[in-house]
Amino acid sequence: MTLHHQRAERHTLSIRKGDNVKIIAGKDSGKTGRVLSVNAKKNTVVVEHASIIKRHTRPNPGKNIKGGIVEKEGPVNVSNVMIVCPSCGKHSRTGHSILPDGTKVRVCKRCNTTLDK
Ligand SMILES: [Zn+2]
Repeated sequence: MTLHHQRAERHTLSIRKGDNVKIIAGKDSGKTGRVLSVNAKKNTVVVEHASIIKRHTRPNPGKNIKGGIVEKEGPVNVSNVMIVCPSCGKHSRTGHSILPDGTKVRVCKRCNTTLDK
């Protein structure tokens, strides 16, 4: 993990933390959930209740670990998710729009509602 060149390598994904998205491909296709985190470098997002990874944990009394199966959300490629528009309620492509004050915002391509507040 390197933090240099962070500025130069900053990718902008159309999906952001807190967005409501629908999974459109893969084994969780059709599920919707909130984006818990975004990894712009890997082009992945972690979506609530999607891409669940089951981890078998061995008991370790010394570390107070009980053992068993731990379920955790795994990363999903951003190309497999689409934003669910809060206005029209459908998953849609996003476009960009520049506000009069110069702020770049995302808009729903179906209903043209701004997705950012
Ligand atoms: Zn919409």
